[in-house]
Amino acid sequence: MAKYIFVTGGVTSSLGKGIIAASLAKLLQARGLRVTIQKFDPYINVDPGTLNPYEHGECFVTEDGAETDLDLGHYERFLNIYTSQANNVTTGRIYQTVINKEREGAYLGKTVQVVPHITDEIKRRMQLLGQSGDYDIVITEIGGTVGDIESLPFVEAVRQLQWELPEEDAVVVHLTLIPYLRAAKELKTKPTQHSVRMLSQEGVHPDVIVCRTEKTLSPELRRKIALFCNVKQEAVIEAADAPTIYEVPLLMMREGLDKIVLKKMGISEYREPELGKWKEFLDKLKYPKGKVNIGLIGKYLELQDAYKSILESFVHAGAINECQVQIVNVHSEFITQENVTEKLAGLDGLLVAPGFGHRGVEGKIVAVKYARENGLPFFGICLGMQMAVIEFARNVLGLGDAHSTEMDPDTKNPVIDLMEEQKKVTAKGGTMRLGAYPCEIREGSLASRIYGVPQISERHRHRWEFNNRYLEQFEQAGMLASGKNPATGLVEIIELPAHPFFVGVQYHPELKSTVENPQPVFVHFIKAAKEFAEKKQEAKNPLMQGEMI
Ligand code: GLN
Repeated sequence: MAKYIFVTGGVTSSLGKGIIAASLAKLLQARGLRVTIQKFDPYINVDPGTLNPYEHGECFVTEDGAETDLDLGHYERFLNIYTSQANNVTTGRIYQTVINKEREGAYLGKTVQVVPHITDEIKRRMQLLGQSGDYDIVITEIGGTVGDIESLPFVEAVRQLQWELPEEDAVVVHLTLIPYLRAAKELKTKPTQHSVRMLSQEGVHPDVIVCRTEKTLSPELRRKIALFCNVKQEAVIEAADAPTIYEVPLLMMREGLDKIVLKKMGISEYREPELGKWKEFLDKLKYPKGKVNIGLIGKYLELQDAYKSILESFVHAGAINECQVQIVNVHSEFITQENVTEKLAGLDGLLVAPGFGHRGVEGKIVAVKYARENGLPFFGICLGMQMAVIEFARNVLGLGDAHSTEMDPDTKNPVIDLMEEQKKVTAKGGTMRLGAYPCEIREGSLASRIYGVPQISERHRHRWEFNNRYLEQFEQAGMLASGKNPATGLVEIIELPAHPFFVGVQYHPELKSTVENPQPVFVHFIKAAKEFAEKKQEAKNPLMQGEMI
């Protein structure tokens, strides 16, 4: 049977619960335990799929096609494992299950209530992965902040499990904030005391307190927190601000977070953590030998979380290329034919981001044209790939009105069209083409050099696709479909062999990049950007080159 660790948050949101949970999971995994993480979110949406990225950041898609919270992305990137629908549960999904059961008559004669019916369903889901036999430890991150009305049933479920399970099978880690008051030059523990008191009033007693802080906690302060929060001093863990999230597992190891949790769980046999690959990655990340500037052309740039997986994929790809990736945000709505040269000056590569709806698409098309005509490495993801197709149709094939029927339903040249299976779909939640599908790679193509295998599997989230009626015309003019779904012929990858690096993918490669397995298209894109930057430098300093020879 698996053991359970619950991670709750207090004082404020955005303390990095997901990163702390993932770091603890990483350490336990590195010590040889089989670990997974799940997130329970208090909102009433059944999943975050219909949320605007401004509301909740990126929607992370799993192999099995679940639209989930972006923290699952962190779990996969840290642990190098796949998660699934079972790893993300919302209040909406819990209620949906209970209400469906009520309609089926499962509770005939009974009044259906939050306690016990909702809490029973929460507990059932909290233990699902643990009962599969695949894991020694299941970490459950509870979304929201203790004291929120919405998270009460989750906290109540944790309380019941803490009581029902053997004592060493349920550990509660509470993450809080120790603010530093600049004027008083003091770290303050009161908000933490209040938050632990609130948690205790709800019946849950934390075993470990992890304190986010910008200053070091003195031994006296640790003692004070331990005393007021009723935990041992060794169970007060400092979580100082880190230069990168990937440093956090090592900081937590230094603080002994994994050991205190193992002790509480009565696990005494474990090895020293195997973190060789992780440390190698960190070294490369911290001491890059070069730098490239990558333009991120998108429309949700005000919120960095909207492109979380893309940004993290660049971190992984940069490290393996021993090069710092500087992301330059370029808002697609403000790119025009007149200002594009100035807007994209100094870039070594261009990534056109995924997206929905017509806002900002003309700017994306202008940016693609610039990259195509100037030999600037180009990488288009999902909508970014579709924009590359439209640009090519308009400016190379001469189909001036070419468009996607998403933006222009009446276009005479729908080079991007709604998938046949989508035409009957009206409901919005969970109805896109989602999750992993195979893709066959064309021999001799850039895609085949990137992946090095004839068939791959990548994750999807879209309704529109390349219109195969135009394929011959595109290929004759030099844009190749170098990856296709073997069953349906759906175009998954396009490329321009005459260009140094021009790749568009219908899928979302950013969803599969991890620290230990950086995603190959990102890795090769950064390599191409590095070469572009070096050539630019050589062109600037031709004399120096001569002198060196
Ligand atoms: N809006 C496009 C589609 O649905 C692209 C989706 C995306 O970029 N994820 O096909």
